[in-house]
Amino acid sequence: MNVVLLFLLNGIFACCSGNSAHEATPRLLLVSFDGFRADYLKTYNLPYLQDFIKDGVLVEHVNNAFITKTFPNHYSIVTGLYEETHGIVANTMFDAATKKRFSPFSDTDPFWWDEAVPIWVTNQLQENKTSAAAMWPGTDVHIQNIVPHFFMKYNSSVSFSKRVENIVTWLNSSDPPVTFAALYWEEPDASGHKYGPEDTKNMSNVLQEVDKLIGHLVKSLKVSKLWEEINVIITSDHGMAQCSQDRLIKLDDCIEPQAYTLIDTSPVAAILPRNETYVYDHLKNCSPNHMKVYRKEEIPERYHYHYNERIQPIILVADEGWTIVHNETLHRLGDHGYDNAFPSMHPFLAAHGPAFRKGYRLKTMNIVDIYPMMCHILGLTPQPNNGSLSNAKCLLADQWCIDVAEAIGIVIGVLMVLATLTCLMIIMKNRTPSLRPFSRLQLQEEDDDPLIG
Ligand SMILES: [Zn+2]
Repeated sequence: MNVVLLFLLNGIFACCSGNSAHEATPRLLLVSFDGFRADYLKTYNLPYLQDFIKDGVLVEHVNNAFITKTFPNHYSIVTGLYEETHGIVANTMFDAATKKRFSPFSDTDPFWWDEAVPIWVTNQLQENKTSAAAMWPGTDVHIQNIVPHFFMKYNSSVSFSKRVENIVTWLNSSDPPVTFAALYWEEPDASGHKYGPEDTKNMSNVLQEVDKLIGHLVKSLKVSKLWEEINVIITSDHGMAQCSQDRLIKLDDCIEPQAYTLIDTSPVAAILPRNETYVYDHLKNCSPNHMKVYRKEEIPERYHYHYNERIQPIILVADEGWTIVHNETLHRLGDHGYDNAFPSMHPFLAAHGPAFRKGYRLKTMNIVDIYPMMCHILGLTPQPNNGSLSNAKCLLADQWCIDVAEAIGIVIGVLMVLATLTCLMIIMKNRTPSLRPFSRLQLQEEDDDPLIG
């Protein structure tokens, strides 16, 4: 009975949502606050963000991609790909074949980005759909020869309110109409690095500021009459771990620096060795209790971090809170990049708008699942990706979603109904008198004797 009712409701709902799809073109604003660790939501009082979540959805932990750095994870969000596939495998990279180098200060060569197709490109290739972006990593690069119709060249000194002002202006543009927009802000990452996440006094101040920015964004969307129609996702790329001067791994104590080139730094150090065996053997025993050393082919499968030429022959992965240096002192109290299994490395995701359910909470989803969800909302055919829409169905208003507890309940319910029906059938069968062929009762002679003698 439950199942029949659910299917009926689902059918009615699908029918209704199908009609509404013709009424308004779906629109989506994707926002990232860099380095917003998932548990900041529990540690700090963030009234504007909580207000946003109250009428929308929250994913408490997003399982992000290894390495848990900024450029790689921002590209995983917009492509649905692991780093080995989309090609942005670190914040600092070296390509041995071309001798090209990538860094946050030199990131606009399409060579690095063209191994994937981000959602703003796919969106823009559709008829009547246009993208806009305010400093989301990669949006000022000609990827697949395309930049968003509206975009800003990256400049960290441009204020959040200016970025929001541009986004709102572009979203209000009717020629061409913008259906996908992306917005990026550098905090709380910058302060997380500076103070470390355990400095709750300073982090509280920073997060109050970030929360006010969220309030400003929502207010701007309301004032411009976009709030009711637009879907907004607020998420981040990674979390933050506390570092310490007492947790340093000094490579110079183990091997001479001339033996290798350090391509990317802590906490996942990418090593280009002169002699691979020599360097590997020396580093393997450098700090075995606080750092893993992998040849490229030994990198654990769960990292999905192997099949790309830009991944160097040896990588060092520091344990949580440890910092790899040549021989320097600690230069920042917070860092990220560590194993993506650590909850401290996870960001959160919150979303609000007509495409999303209201008041729904999900424990976890994968960062690569965000992309197929966004494509679904925008009606785009996704590029091949590592994500799955099924993991995000419970967040979406037009999808039939059922959690494990509900599923078990329904199965038990159906079994009980079937068992009851079976029992009833057996009882009914036993009560029905068997039909024997009629035959005349044979009287015996003594039957004629009087009963009362
Ligand atoms: Zn970041």
